[in-house]
Amino acid sequence: MTTGNDLSQLTTKAAAFIAGKKGLFIGGEWRAAEGDETLPVIDPSSGREVGRIAQASAADVDAAVVAARRALENPAWARMRAHQREEIMLRLAELIRAEGPSLAQIETVNSGKLIANTRLFDVDLSVHTLRYMAGWATKLHGETMDLAVPYLPDMRFNGFTRRFPVGVVAAIMPWNVPLCQAVWKLAPVLATGCTIVLKPSELTSLTALRLAELCDEAGVPPGVVNVITGTGEVTGKALVEHPGIDKINFTGSTRVGQTIAEHAARNFKHYNLELGGKSPLIIAEDADLEKAIPGAAWAIYGNSGQNCCAGSRALIHEKHFEKVVAGVAEIAASIRLGPGLDKASMMGPLVSMTHRTRVADHVDRARSAGAQVIGGEIVEGDGSYFTPAIITGLDHGHPTVQQEIFGPVLCAFPFKDDEEALRLANGTVFGLGASIWTEGLTTANRYFERLKAGTVWINTHNILDLSLPFGGVKQSGVGFELGREGILSHTVLRAGVMRSDD
Ligand code: NAD
Repeated sequence: MTTGNDLSQLTTKAAAFIAGKKGLFIGGEWRAAEGDETLPVIDPSSGREVGRIAQASAADVDAAVVAARRALENPAWARMRAHQREEIMLRLAELIRAEGPSLAQIETVNSGKLIANTRLFDVDLSVHTLRYMAGWATKLHGETMDLAVPYLPDMRFNGFTRRFPVGVVAAIMPWNVPLCQAVWKLAPVLATGCTIVLKPSELTSLTALRLAELCDEAGVPPGVVNVITGTGEVTGKALVEHPGIDKINFTGSTRVGQTIAEHAARNFKHYNLELGGKSPLIIAEDADLEKAIPGAAWAIYGNSGQNCCAGSRALIHEKHFEKVVAGVAEIAASIRLGPGLDKASMMGPLVSMTHRTRVADHVDRARSAGAQVIGGEIVEGDGSYFTPAIITGLDHGHPTVQQEIFGPVLCAFPFKDDEEALRLANGTVFGLGASIWTEGLTTANRYFERLKAGTVWINTHNILDLSLPFGGVKQSGVGFELGREGILSHTVLRAGVMRSDD
């Protein structure tokens, strides 16, 4: 039996923000969308509408991009010293930290996620992201070279490079880590002197809107950060296709990522794409099962499986297969479903009823194909709850194994040797994350070298750090966020040549 969030627990600030009228943040001011169009904000734990957000039209998108372009060229931002941008970022980090309890509650009510998760991941990691990226603002530099210029032997030249902001960035986010995703996209923009139009998912826009207010409070000049809300088909598409955009930073599904890549390539826009995954978790013959079994369970069931790197395919050495499946099933059965604000809940609802139907359809298709399914049931009621599932006996080519489900559904397979494990592990169109569980250094190294994934974890899964570049290969993405690569991708190099004869 599950219930909805008890909204009387909300701080006054969080309650007022959720229910209050929300507009679009453009050029440092709040305004209603054209025609005052709005979309509902749903609490997935109860299915209840708790507020409304604006539905931005193509004209609203245009206003936001024009404001971002103006701010990019305004000396107040363009000539601002790097250490001053750093100070603004640190102020923003501090404001987010101080607002932590309310922000986490807003996120939990809007997304369904557990309060511990929104506190530790969405809020705290956002603070650390801003602090980490703030340090980069003063450390961006080019190089110098002595030029040979062989066809002008009597002349001398010095060569050098400098980095400049890439320009106006369009950032489009999914719903699974809303605030953190917004800050991952915002922080490198502020550090490098770019400007941004942020479009959060229409399902989870609230914390990005609160972030806009905090940017204003931190002293970010008007127009540097613009936040617009609306559907992907209208607002997202208009933003991507706007000629005033220099770079698109997109996180979302492979399907939408492909259309963005096509548009960006045709129009010579910079882009990076952080897309879907079907990440393998491999338990080798010499794995420590005491660690690997809970590791496998939480790699898939954490955040209700709504994690791009979720360990959704467990490849288990045949010697351990039954023990691991039984162990994961036991953990799954012990998971208490409930609303995110309730600290006793171990798994919240899925983000929406529509998404739950998609997840349940995948599990039903596996059942129809004759697979054994433990769990994987819809919980009757108004919240979009779904019990964690473990599936065995399915062909590895089945769509439930090959396609991203983005829910708490684990498909498990036995393997005989490393070659078979690697063939299965690399046997999807995705390449986002992968983990190998082993006590052997040689085994760890062998898998690290041969797994086709943006991140390979050893005896752990889903660990991200701001200093590590994060991205995918194959259909999981192009380019990187975070780390040095994430910063540099917001800059363009300019080469300089200076004549330097005596
Ligand atoms: P989605 O692709 O449906 O939507 C993502 C965002 O794109 C939303 O803001 C949406 O409004 C917008 N959008 C939709 N259609 C658009 C269009 N035609 N033009 C421009 N924008 C458009 O994805 P989702 O369901 O919100 O999120 C789940 C997906 O995100 C999963 O595939 C997951 O793997 C992926 N994801 C990837 C990462 C990563 O870092 N690789 C992280 C989190 C989530």
